[in-house]
Amino acid sequence: MRIVFLGTAASLPSKNRGLACLGVRFLGEVVLFDCPEGTQQAMMKAKLSYGKISNIFISHWHEDHFLGLLGLIQTQSLNERTEPLHIWGPKMDTKYLKLFKKIITGKKQTYPIEIHEVKVGKLYEKGEFTVSAVKLKHTVPSFGYILIEKLPSKFNKKKAIKLGVPEGPMFKQLQSGKAVKVKGKTIKPEQVLKEIGREKKLCYFVDTIPLEENIKHIKDADILIHEVTFSELEEERAKEMLHSTGKGVAKLAKKANVKRLIGTHISARFKDTKELVKEMSSVFPNSHIAKDLEEVQL
Ligand SMILES: [Zn+2]
Ligand SMILES: [Zn+2]
Repeated sequence: MRIVFLGTAASLPSKNRGLACLGVRFLGEVVLFDCPEGTQQAMMKAKLSYGKISNIFISHWHEDHFLGLLGLIQTQSLNERTEPLHIWGPKMDTKYLKLFKKIITGKKQTYPIEIHEVKVGKLYEKGEFTVSAVKLKHTVPSFGYILIEKLPSKFNKKKAIKLGVPEGPMFKQLQSGKAVKVKGKTIKPEQVLKEIGREKKLCYFVDTIPLEENIKHIKDADILIHEVTFSELEEERAKEMLHSTGKGVAKLAKKANVKRLIGTHISARFKDTKELVKEMSSVFPNSHIAKDLEEVQL
């Protein structure tokens, strides 16, 4: 899984930060989380191909999170894309929906676009990968997205041999979760598999307060990418605007026992983010603020 921060700014872009957006590449396709102005250029710099985008998951319909959609849609028609593109988000405002419908049914459109209204739960599945949505709390309906890659359980070869299973096809059967019979005795996969249910988990939560009720969903995540729009000095303002502070997010990461916390959606007011990282790290040491075009492997 290749994860690229295509932008990391809140509300408006700055010289060093484009608007917050994440690109993830897996199994030869790209999914985008949000698609603000500037996404196309950031994708070019990151060497992520537009043609490979299968799904775009929009957190909410605030302009700093989706205004890049129309340009991206048009570019791909100019590129004569034929593959369908799926766009997910909360229920769209009728004025936007009208505009979208007009564009995607226009004569120049070379490929189908499906717009899906997001509901909590699993949205998309491909191979071992799934994307699910959870509710966030912001000034308009907003969703957080969780990308999970299921990993195969580990096979305990020593134990299998001890139980009398001969090396060969029976090993494969057990590894794929099927029981085998050895000399009239049934050997179940769970007897020879370790770490059943292993997975890699990436959470992308922008434009929300740190929401305790989501701890069960982000629990033990490998990476929690969370908006950090304000510092703890502006806690009242963060509460009022339904955004997060560095400390608030760090507390959430700690309670959810995530492995790594990466802050994004950074206000242009922060000339540098040292203080913000310090604030987060005082509660949750493995904290970091993303930079544009920064890459993470998972
Ligand atoms: Zn925003
Ligand atoms: Zn917003």
